[in-house]
Amino acid sequence: MTEIQYRLEQKRRVLGDFPGPKSAALAERRKKVVAGGVASGVPVYVADADGGIIQDVDGNSFIDLGSGIAVTSVGASDAAVVGAVAEQAAHFTHTCFMVTPYEGYIELAEELARLTPGDHEKRSVLFNSGAEAVENAVKIARLATGRDAVVAFDHAYHGRTNLTMALTAKAMPYKTGFGPFAPEIYRVPMSYPYREEADIKGEEAAQRAITMIEKQIGGDQVAAILIEPVQGEGGFIVPAEGFLPTLAAWAKEKGIVFIADEVQSGFCRTGAWFASQHEGVVPDLITLAKGIAGGLPLSAVTGRAELLDSVHPGGLGGTYGGNPIACAAALAAIRSMEEYDLNARAQRIEDIVLTRLRKLAEELGEQSIIGEVRGRGAMLAIELVKPGTAHTTKEPNAEATKAIAAACLQAGVVILTCGTYGNVVRLLPPLVIGEELLSDGLDVLETAIRQA
Ligand SMILES: *Cc1c(COP(=O)(O)O)cnc(C)c1O
Repeated sequence: MTEIQYRLEQKRRVLGDFPGPKSAALAERRKKVVAGGVASGVPVYVADADGGIIQDVDGNSFIDLGSGIAVTSVGASDAAVVGAVAEQAAHFTHTCFMVTPYEGYIELAEELARLTPGDHEKRSVLFNSGAEAVENAVKIARLATGRDAVVAFDHAYHGRTNLTMALTAKAMPYKTGFGPFAPEIYRVPMSYPYREEADIKGEEAAQRAITMIEKQIGGDQVAAILIEPVQGEGGFIVPAEGFLPTLAAWAKEKGIVFIADEVQSGFCRTGAWFASQHEGVVPDLITLAKGIAGGLPLSAVTGRAELLDSVHPGGLGGTYGGNPIACAAALAAIRSMEEYDLNARAQRIEDIVLTRLRKLAEELGEQSIIGEVRGRGAMLAIELVKPGTAHTTKEPNAEATKAIAAACLQAGVVILTCGTYGNVVRLLPPLVIGEELLSDGLDVLETAIRQA
């Protein structure tokens, strides 16, 4: 494991009330020209970022527990990524792989074949965003099977384009007013251990979903089952053990393409290259983005050769898909993940954070607002409930969640929230964050929880 070198001092520093004057001035300019529908969670503007630190234009240093939503796992300015980007940009920034192809695209597809689960023959196609990867995985599954229906789950998040809005579960803010939505999407119950009515096993939860599919669609009509192995925006929900393998086995039996959306959970985030691997699940197709390229926009669909090769030449592509600079960044980011052993670091983050937060939950007792502490690797969450309901009605506490995020920010820690009920604090630190900095961030979070 190589020692990580940081360019910026890895220390939290809040200079006073913020947003400071420079951020405030940018906010004024923004109001006049940037679409109101784009919201930013944090009211400061970034000047620099490295390791576990984000510096704003007024000189404040924040601890980053969000990684730009699980993107900058190798840090926001990893030296290898920066060097690869500069080197590639000096030669050519774009030619379009569909016009005049280049080696970086092929080399990245080789890496994706090597790293993704399963030792079958694989193919990859590259795009720009997670939503675009999901759209294309569905296109491929429909064409390959000759079927229309796509099954998605409660609490799912798959993006903001028309098809992926239809696949996403939550109305506000993602879907409300933006319809009509794409047809032939069916939603079935997820395994959400904390909120199950009874103590139901993973296999039983899978059977509940399968029965609904059989009854409402018919297994032989389904092109694809699309699922996040650990749900992201829906609340960092880890399904009960046995849920994913049971679904995958049933899909195989029915000729249904099993698509794992690992856009958020992929690339070492959960302490494995891909979250599917925790239960030995081998998806037919896997969608990848976020952590793949050290912050550059890149996404991929990787999967069984016979599925991807069933598409006619010209059926897949896009002007920028697999841009050469993004490919160079991804290749460098993957090398950094291996060099820094980011899977081990994600597991270590899990140990530190879960131990600490579970101890806090125990100390605060049954009357506290902590409903559940959960997650895998560096994809960790606290689900917050109204006081005293943690083991009874589990009433979501979105107000406390907001208050905790705001208090953390005031103290110089960037944390994100999520969840169908807006009541989950999620921790997604860069995997290169130092342990001292992480501990300092957790001190701040703990204080905020105690106050809430
Ligand atoms: C973020 C996300 C997407 C959408 O990715 P974009 O790059 O924002 O389009 C899709 N699926 C999952 C699981 C995600 O977390």
